[in-house]
Amino acid sequence: MRQKTILVIIPLILSIGVIPAIPFSAGVDIPPLLQICIDKVWIESTKGRIACVTPSTAEKLVERGWGTLLVIVEDTSDEKSITPVVSGGTLPITQTPIIGIPEKEYPKNYVPGTEELAEDEIRLTFLGTGMPFPTRNQAAAGVLMEFGNGEILMFDVGSGTVANFNSMKISPAHLTKFFITHLHTDHQGDLDMFWAQGIPFGRILPMQVWGPTGEGHALGTQSFVDGILSANLWDLKSREGIAPTSGAEIITHEFDWAETQVVYEEDGITVTSFPAIHAMAGAISYRIDWNDMSIVYSGDTRINDFMVEQGQNVDLLIHETFLPAEILSEKTGMALELATVLVNDLHTSAKAAGVVFELAQPKMAVMYHTWVTDETISPIFDDLRLPYLGPVTLAQDFTVFNITPESIVVRQALVDDAPWPIVPAESAHAETSDEVSVLPEWLQEHAIDLEEALKEILEQRNSE
Ligand SMILES: [Zn+2]
Ligand SMILES: [Zn+2]
Repeated sequence: MRQKTILVIIPLILSIGVIPAIPFSAGVDIPPLLQICIDKVWIESTKGRIACVTPSTAEKLVERGWGTLLVIVEDTSDEKSITPVVSGGTLPITQTPIIGIPEKEYPKNYVPGTEELAEDEIRLTFLGTGMPFPTRNQAAAGVLMEFGNGEILMFDVGSGTVANFNSMKISPAHLTKFFITHLHTDHQGDLDMFWAQGIPFGRILPMQVWGPTGEGHALGTQSFVDGILSANLWDLKSREGIAPTSGAEIITHEFDWAETQVVYEEDGITVTSFPAIHAMAGAISYRIDWNDMSIVYSGDTRINDFMVEQGQNVDLLIHETFLPAEILSEKTGMALELATVLVNDLHTSAKAAGVVFELAQPKMAVMYHTWVTDETISPIFDDLRLPYLGPVTLAQDFTVFNITPESIVVRQALVDDAPWPIVPAESAHAETSDEVSVLPEWLQEHAIDLEEALKEILEQRNSE
């Protein structure tokens, strides 16, 4: 492990204009990855937590008696820069890549298909972390959870998540259970593609979708799933007689969005739904419990006390964190007033997420649903750090958490961008239906006979 030198540098303190009577401490263990502390100041909170903040935040924290300044003078590692994946980074954006004491050693990066899960372990992978504007860098919302007992659950299936899932080295046949927080496209847009690709690539069991009611049947999950099936009837019919279609069914489990209740309980895994405050009736958040570990996933929401209650001391509290309104407005041309309403009323700013994290005190806080680029990381952390100095990760696509009762380890996955689909052996010989769609004769008469055409081409070439 690299050595860090922690000293107090008077000139730096003077240059950032902090009042002179600040108490300093030195010789404190700084987390090994210094990714989010460039040209900034380390602070130790009154609770003994260490975090990196901007000079202005440090000043506010110290003025209020909430923290003590620490300054790092030297870090010779080349890993200290904050490099998001979009700029070539291969590390997660966190100061605390390891919490607790892991029972095994983890490689620096996760390579899908190369690590067995322990019986008591959860691997949680972000397949989408972006805004409702999917990019090649970030798909829209989606979180994959693999459990040590063999269960695989997906929470939200925003646009772009299917391509990322396909790099996880998991057969499409083995992911059948989907939990949706609300019916905005950036949380459900790839459900149809997950459904469709499972049919030729080996899914034999029906898909199952859990999701909330809305105000009236037409706005609920059942109606949404029925709509997907009817909109994709051509797709389904075209596969009859060619691929097994036993996995084409979708079983929907619609539940009352307004109630806090257990919506899934199987093999010791419990999923609880509770209301979210987002856009209109019918948005929820989930809490997942298994083997004395707990994860809360917000979906989209304004900060609320359901979340604080459900998130108390959980292992992972994943909360949406929208772009700062100023950046949203500047980058998109959206009026600042509108951007402010969008961020504060419909979603959650980093400062607001920090309030929830501080009130809930998770082992690890996770921000997602934002734009992760060189320009956005610092402003997001600046806003977050005023209320919250605890462990936090800003999730990117393929940020991976290995969670056990003893520890949480955060890494970035290195994935194959051109993976092959994995068809399980038991699916390869599954029966197809007898019904085959027959094309009209007049159309078939226009088909070119390959052998004849080839023969003609070769004969002509030989005679030249
Ligand atoms: Zn939404
Ligand atoms: Zn969203």
